[in-house]
Amino acid sequence: MSEQEILDAAVRREAVLTAMSKAAKLAGRKPEGVTLIAVSKTHDADAICPLIDAGQRVFGENRVQEAQEKWAALRATIPDIALHLVGQLQSNKAEDAVALFDAIHSVDRPSLVTALAKAMDKADRRPDCFIQVNIGDEPQKGGCAIAELPALLAQSAAAALPVSGLMCVPPVDVEPAPYFALLAKIARDHGLVRLSMGMSGDFETAIMTGATHVRIGTALFGGRG
Ligand SMILES: *Cc1c(COP(=O)(O)O)cnc(C)c1O
Repeated sequence: MSEQEILDAAVRREAVLTAMSKAAKLAGRKPEGVTLIAVSKTHDADAICPLIDAGQRVFGENRVQEAQEKWAALRATIPDIALHLVGQLQSNKAEDAVALFDAIHSVDRPSLVTALAKAMDKADRRPDCFIQVNIGDEPQKGGCAIAELPALLAQSAAAALPVSGLMCVPPVDVEPAPYFALLAKIARDHGLVRLSMGMSGDFETAIMTGATHVRIGTALFGGRG
């Protein structure tokens, strides 16, 4: 990777971190309370390495196989990388996901809770879990319905799945703040402290409404082609 690429990545990351910090301060929150997840899906090692060199350590991927292929080599050289799964997960990939990821943001149905709990018991490894909520009640979207959340949380607790927060992707092209605020309220009602919400276009709004984890791709890497 060229010196210029490293500089570009460092500048983009600095700009995102500065905007995150401003949003946190505006909301009376500590900037350290918000984690930047660099969503590197579709980007290869050449694009990722400059961000690592700039200091980024937390990355997000949306496909198990793509993540396995890309990150085995990268992790061998940089041991303190944390990988978060932000995409939908098939139950038959639960074992692979538990082996690879440090956090899973897409737990959204009873069969997946069962598969993940079994995989975690077998591997004796417990990645942090977020329950994805279909906050805009959109038929095409992943996430559990708001009404199904209490049962899913109860099942997760009974299965010793370490659920610490909620995740959402609000509807596109509408003001996201009410959806973020609703997710924050639901999390509070259930005593969950983490909120995975906010992407390149809306992370500042998400932070002002309580996000603890923002998932950012385009603003760091440019477009996905
Ligand atoms: C791709 C993706 C992101 C990042 O989106 P950008 O708009 O590129 O920042 C965040 N969350 C999920 C679930 C994604 O699939």
